[in-house]
Amino acid sequence: MVLVYAESQKGILKKAAFEAVTYGYKTAQVLGSECVALVLGKTGDPGQLGQYGASKVYQIEDPAVEQFDSQVYTSAIAGAAKEVGANVIILSHTSTGKSLLGRLAARLKAGSVPGVNAVPTVDHGFRVQKPVFSGKAIAEMELKTDIKVLSLMANAIKPEKVGDAVGVASLSVTLATARVKVKEVKRVEGTVPLPEADLVVSAGRGMKGPENWGIIEDLATALGATTACSRPVADTGWRPHYEHVGQTGIAIRPNLYIAIGISGAIQHLAGVNNSKTIVVINKDPEAPFFKAADYGVVGDLFEVVPRLTEAVNKLKHEG
Ligand SMILES: Cc1cc2nc3c(=O)[nH]c(=O)nc-3n(C[C@H](O)[C@H](O)[C@H](O)COP(=O)(O)OP(=O)(O)OC[C@H]3O[C@@H](n4cnc5c(N)ncnc54)[C@H](O)[C@@H]3O)c2cc1C
Repeated sequence: MVLVYAESQKGILKKAAFEAVTYGYKTAQVLGSECVALVLGKTGDPGQLGQYGASKVYQIEDPAVEQFDSQVYTSAIAGAAKEVGANVIILSHTSTGKSLLGRLAARLKAGSVPGVNAVPTVDHGFRVQKPVFSGKAIAEMELKTDIKVLSLMANAIKPEKVGDAVGVASLSVTLATARVKVKEVKRVEGTVPLPEADLVVSAGRGMKGPENWGIIEDLATALGATTACSRPVADTGWRPHYEHVGQTGIAIRPNLYIAIGISGAIQHLAGVNNSKTIVVINKDPEAPFFKAADYGVVGDLFEVVPRLTEAVNKLKHEG
């Protein structure tokens, strides 16, 4: 049995949840098994996960799981795994999934692989793939334990509808007692969080200073995109740290990544080179980022970006 923990935020299933269930369904097909999904806390319409391949959805509704706590969530998912007899547990490779993977593996005496990006194969043992060395190589790993825990990289698989909505069964398991008390949660409101974003407009030191970010925000608003930045920009306080992408920041895989005034250092590329389409705007034709770009504009960003925004707005109005 394959058990997928489907993440939600503020009661709404995340895009990552649909990807994970699609992945779980395909994994179950490879194993000749069944895929079930688990949601924690109040979640709107969890039965829709059936459309993506879950044969059943389990829900644990307990005040203790309304707020994320990795110990409590580990006990919930481990309890559910035991209850349904799961031998493969799939998480999303989000900050939540990353904090659960190790704990769950230890709890279930399972082998684990974080950040897988392809459906397992079973011809030569249970094997999974994951990108390594900042995406420059792919590692193939074999898991020999009875129970396996995997976390799925964002955008590695497209959610696919394969059936109808299914029933939701409530599940009750023994939950750990939270040892940490959350006093306050501050969320960035208004934009899609970077790991979930399909469109990202990102800028670097070429912007010269934080006072110039208006043109980046205008382009992002026109496209409905989330903003990001290079590390020095966040380090110098021009932009908040949650926007920093790269090896030491957030790794993203949007459909479109527009890099403006960013040189394209290896550490930056490590977090963005899995984007489907990369557009680079840089005044230096020798900027390394152009080697990774699908489209490039050599020019002064202070001229190019406003014109791009104007063109997008014009298209939208015509459209
Ligand atoms: C261990 C380690 C980890 C790191 N992790 C990260 C990470 O996670 N993310 C990250 O981003 N970096 C990371 N770095 C830093 C990385 O090596 C680079 O220094 C950084 O990415 C450079 O940022 P930048 O491209 O904004 O600035 P710069 O390298 O200064 O590039 C600015 C670019 O803007 C262009 N430009 C200037 N003016 C204009 C203009 N008017 N119009 C158009 N283009 C213009 C320039 O041609 C240049 O290419 C890390 C470094 C180390 C050592």
